[in-house]
Amino acid sequence: IGSQKDRVVTEEEWLQKWETGNIGFHKEQGHPLLQKYLDVLLNGRSGLRIFFPLCGKAVEMKWLADMGHNVVGVEVSEQALKEFFAEHGLPYSEEPVPGISGAKKLQSTCGNISLYCCSIYDLSSSIVGKFDGFWDRGALVAVNPCDRQRYVSLMITLMEKNSSYLLITVSYDPNKHKGPPFYVPESEIKSLFDHCEIKCLQKVDDFSDRHRQWGLDYFLEVLYTIKSVA
Ligand code: SAH
Repeated sequence: IGSQKDRVVTEEEWLQKWETGNIGFHKEQGHPLLQKYLDVLLNGRSGLRIFFPLCGKAVEMKWLADMGHNVVGVEVSEQALKEFFAEHGLPYSEEPVPGISGAKKLQSTCGNISLYCCSIYDLSSSIVGKFDGFWDRGALVAVNPCDRQRYVSLMITLMEKNSSYLLITVSYDPNKHKGPPFYVPESEIKSLFDHCEIKCLQKVDDFSDRHRQWGLDYFLEVLYTIKSVA
């Protein structure tokens, strides 16, 4: 963990990953843990506002929109967002975002998917409102370690009362890979999400050739649910 704490990945580096197609994190088939824990996210509710921080072109946004929820995402790469709409054949419109210079909002024509092209740190609840549900996969673990508290504090300000937050982290030997994704231990999740109730629901083996090439010999995904108790 010590080996990762000073690591910084710049926005330009992320944009470059998209340009060169170096996006091994993208799951074309969507994430099986969202399917499995959908009920925990929805908790019997319909028509939710669901937030996807650092969304990339996550196909789960389409799943949830098709179920009748309103999806909001944020992503620095405009290419990622355009690929999302193109790959799902969704027409969209673009508009500037009042209050964030240089930012754009790409919104599906039917209105149920709004993707902000800007840095997560430019957002606030006055711009995007609050959310009933959060899907945080490849997001907290992609945030630079020095920005983690700032990121989590922002997420907490976006949580509606009774919101449910699904967080997926990864577990591996941080001395063997510099990240991202970064290793965020459970003790740190608990201190970051201060005043929240945190439950670890599942750990799954996700070890693949990609991780072997990084020099690792194990790689787990860890699913947490987070509820604000404030
Ligand atoms: N959650 C997605 C993408 C994970 S990769 C998925 O599950 O597939 C992390 C993404 O965050 C990248 O697409 C990167 O371009 C984006 N990103 C990195 N820093 C960001 C920031 N500060 N604000 C918004 N997006 C950011």
